[in-house]
Amino acid sequence: MKTRLTEMLGIRHPIVQGGMQWVGVAEMASAVSNAGGLGILTGLTQPTPEALQKEIDRCREMTDKPFGVNLTILPTIKPVPYEEYAQAIVDSGIKIVETAGRNPEPFLPLFKGAGITVIHKCTSIRHSLKAEKIGCDMVSVDGFECAGHPGEDDVTNLILLPLAARRLKIPFIASGGFGDGRGLAAALAMGADGINMGTRFMVTREAPIHENVKQAMVDASELDTTLIYRSLRNTARVFKNSIAEKVVEIEAQPGQTDFEDIRPLVLGAKGKELFEDGDLDRGIWSAGMVVGLIDDIPSCQELIERIVAEAEQIIKERLNQIASA
Ligand code: NAD
Repeated sequence: MKTRLTEMLGIRHPIVQGGMQWVGVAEMASAVSNAGGLGILTGLTQPTPEALQKEIDRCREMTDKPFGVNLTILPTIKPVPYEEYAQAIVDSGIKIVETAGRNPEPFLPLFKGAGITVIHKCTSIRHSLKAEKIGCDMVSVDGFECAGHPGEDDVTNLILLPLAARRLKIPFIASGGFGDGRGLAAALAMGADGINMGTRFMVTREAPIHENVKQAMVDASELDTTLIYRSLRNTARVFKNSIAEKVVEIEAQPGQTDFEDIRPLVLGAKGKELFEDGDLDRGIWSAGMVVGLIDDIPSCQELIERIVAEAEQIIKERLNQIASA
């Protein structure tokens, strides 16, 4: 498949593995890039900008294909030296950056000056148009189905993607709810130049997380995610475990939620431990509604090849037959 995404990034298949806290390390990103997609290292998963540079070097040893780095700018418990992370990305010679969260405008002169292709994750059309206006090269349009932060508008991809196709001039990637060939074919039909997957890549052999977590997502249905931090306007979609249910319960109490009341439950460090030791109620972890479509743990290569083959078959056979009947 050839789209503006594959052409601009020099990748074989129109499939991107988006930034994922604790998951986007060299093993994950290189497996996706080696399979012909775009792997992305998650900047803030590394404790320091120097550690990120080392991870970039490690990933280069594991793949000679293009890969990118995600820089997420959202509320954090400890302040993050974003400028230093951005500089480390540039100094490492990375050519593709996925920004997410707040407006990436302050970082664009640095990134664009270094010849970097910037993909900004947006959860609304107004943010997508703004990203285009300030000079981002592409946007990743994140529907309400997505894992992590879907924004506060609650608009699904069936509306967001056709709107993006009508209004944007720059290419866009469909993100949120994608995990199979039907999804890829539908995203291309709605005008996207490819798909972004996070949750689906967590349930692959190479994802650096405990088998219990992968199995829980295989067993889960589309009803097994929930929204937390709604009351703090920092909404996140996470797997519905006992900790997430506790957070929702605290937020439902009368009056404004104090982040301090939920902080011990949601610490990123606990999510990291959960991924390492497989204790499913240690903390929270991001998961999208697409868990309802996941029922196996393939390699990244098997997954990507299957999705592309399924999408091609749908386009060439089913859709072609319908159109030419
Ligand atoms: P952390 O340990 O600093 O914080 C834990 C969680 O609490 C995060 O979800 C964070 O957004 C939230 N949070 C922190 N301070 C807050 C406040 N004052 N008000 C409301 N919410 C607050 O974060 P981490 O888990 O190490 O993650 C690091 C960064 O990556 C954060 O910016 C986080 O939002 C982001 N992240 C994004 C996704 C995604 O799917 N887009 C998933 C995980 C983490």
